[in-house]
Amino acid sequence: MSRPIRAIIDLAALRHNFAIARRHAGTARLWSVVKANAYGHGLELIVQSLAEITDGFALIELERAVQLRKAGLDLPILMLEGFYAADELPLFVEHRLIPVLHKIEQIQVLLDAGWPSTLPVYLKLDTGMHRLGFDAAGLKAAQVALAGKVGQQTLMTHFADADGPRGVDWQLERFCAMTAGIDDPCSFANSAALLRYPHARGDWVRPGIMLYGGSPFPQMKSAAELGLQPVMTLQSEIIAVQTLATGESAGYGCTFTADRTLRIGVVACGYADGYPCQAPTGTPVLVDGLRSRTLGRVSMDKLCVDLTHLPEKVGIGGTATLWGRAGDKVLPADEVATAVGTISYELFCALAPRVPVDAIN
Ligand SMILES: *Cc1c(COP(=O)(O)O)cnc(C)c1O
Repeated sequence: MSRPIRAIIDLAALRHNFAIARRHAGTARLWSVVKANAYGHGLELIVQSLAEITDGFALIELERAVQLRKAGLDLPILMLEGFYAADELPLFVEHRLIPVLHKIEQIQVLLDAGWPSTLPVYLKLDTGMHRLGFDAAGLKAAQVALAGKVGQQTLMTHFADADGPRGVDWQLERFCAMTAGIDDPCSFANSAALLRYPHARGDWVRPGIMLYGGSPFPQMKSAAELGLQPVMTLQSEIIAVQTLATGESAGYGCTFTADRTLRIGVVACGYADGYPCQAPTGTPVLVDGLRSRTLGRVSMDKLCVDLTHLPEKVGIGGTATLWGRAGDKVLPADEVATAVGTISYELFCALAPRVPVDAIN
């Protein structure tokens, strides 16, 4: 027997979530965002499962994009941060990777490298996120420099608060002002905008987290309310059971002390598996599908859960679901993330390489 922890990737749920994104996209085409190893779900697995139904894939990592081409993927690939240095450009050309250009310095590098005039590029406009992108003057300069020297240009912007109170209209207004008189195709919506603002799609949308079954705004609407299903389940087993007398503690730092006799289970899952170290006592967990809570500090390879209120038969060998699906029960990653003070994106991306991954259809 090997260590009982595993991540189970539910590809039927992935395709279900994609269908929801497709429905919200209307006539817009979809970049399925698969950066960061498909948000920790496994790039090859996710790409294989979506290749028949998506319009393209968007990611950050050049070596992973090349790997997809070498595996035979023929769909468009969008590189969300473009390129960082000139020596990457031959691979962009060879593998038909579409760079997102976001600063004027990149334009000269692109042209000096002999970019083929048939290959498309994206131009990223900064409409308020203030990370990457051209301002109005920069866009004009870029378009003058690129005229006739590249293929189809698409204008893209990224929303800063599509999941929050400011929404998207303030950025769309800036976008329209910056691009008056230009009729290139455009790409706007991330998951939050796709689900909240039908007018903020553009010609191409870029859903990420919703494909993986996370809500982009869990405090407003849960994944279930959005019709999304969890794709990743992180589960392990109880490998030891302890009885804690009143006044005893479990785990490093003795951060938790039993106020009565407690039965606790020790689960083979810790922060070296990607479970968040900062999870406080009380973080939700399912044990044999029944709700429970973590106790004490998370260790590198283990964490403790409360069994006191559960039937006596729940013990060694019991299944602990850290997030995802347990039979007909679901513990949303969003709920765990909220208890920990983070977002589901971070939980998914943190899944450690030592955790074996099983795919189910
Ligand atoms: C990551 C990313 C997305 C996807 O965002 P989600 O919130 O996961 O839907 C879209 N566009 C860009 C530019 C990104 O970097």
